[in-house]
Amino acid sequence: MTVLSLRGATKRFGGLVAVNNVDFDVQENQVVGLIGPNGSGKSTTLNLISGALKPTSGTISLHGSAISGLRPEKITRKGISRTFQLVRLLPSMSVEENVIAGAVFGHRRRWGHEAHAEAQRLLDRVGLGGKGQLQIGQLTYIDTKRIELARALASDPKLLLLDEWLAGLNPTELRTGIELIHSLRDEGRTIILVEHVMDAIRSLCDACVVMSSGSKIAEGTPAQVLSDPEVIRAYLGD
Ligand code: ADP
Ligand code: MG
Repeated sequence: MTVLSLRGATKRFGGLVAVNNVDFDVQENQVVGLIGPNGSGKSTTLNLISGALKPTSGTISLHGSAISGLRPEKITRKGISRTFQLVRLLPSMSVEENVIAGAVFGHRRRWGHEAHAEAQRLLDRVGLGGKGQLQIGQLTYIDTKRIELARALASDPKLLLLDEWLAGLNPTELRTGIELIHSLRDEGRTIILVEHVMDAIRSLCDACVVMSSGSKIAEGTPAQVLSDPEVIRAYLGD
C-alpha cells in the first residue's frame, strides 16, 4: 500500500530551484533512502513533506489525500513526524524535560503526570531508560540523537522522516543506531531516511531515491542506485 506520494514536487527559493519536479512513492512499512550530494534538495524535500515549507508547485499525498499546504501541526496529527539534521535541544533542561518539551507539541498533547509517564516510555524505547534526570551536557553524542528520536516518536508517527540521524556516529554507535531504526520498522513504521552513510543505506533501505541539484536522478534498490553511473558521477562531482 502506498503511504506517501510526491507528484511534481517543486520548491523555489527566489531563482534557485531547490526541489525540481520530484515524483516518488513510499510503500507502507518500507525504509526509503533519500540520498544525494550536499545541497541536492533532500532536507528541503523533507520540509515539504512535514509542512515546514509549502511547495511552489506539485502535490504531496498521504494515503491518497493531499497534505501539501497544510500546517505542520496538522501534518503531525495525520501521522508524519521528523528529526532535524541539527539536533535542537534545550541545554538547561534535563533529558526528560527535553522530551516533554517536544512531546507536548505532538497530537496527543499530554501534560503533567501523563507527560512524565509518556516521556519515560519514549526514553525506554530509544535506549535512554534511566537517563531522564541527566542534564544534556552529560550525554554522549548518540544519546542526544536518541532524544531527538524520542521527540519525533512522541506523536506516534506512521511515517517517520530521519534527516541524517546517523551522521557523526562512531562505528559502534552506528551499529546501535541502525538496529534502532530496524526496530522502528519492525513495529510497523514507514521511514524516509536522508543519509550519507552507505553501510546504513545498504543495510536499512528497501528502496532509494537519488537527488542531484534538486532533481530525482535515479530510483531503485540500494544495489541498483549505488552502481548507477549517473549516481556515481553526481557523487564524484560533489
Ligand atoms: P541537502 O539537504 O540535500 O543538503 P537542502 O535541501 O538543504 O540540501 O538544500 C538544497 C538547496 O536549497 C541548497 O542550494 C540550499 O542552499 C538551498 N536552500 C535550502 N533551504 C533554503 C532556504 N530556506 N532559503 C534559500 N535557499 C535554501
Ligand atoms: Mg540536508
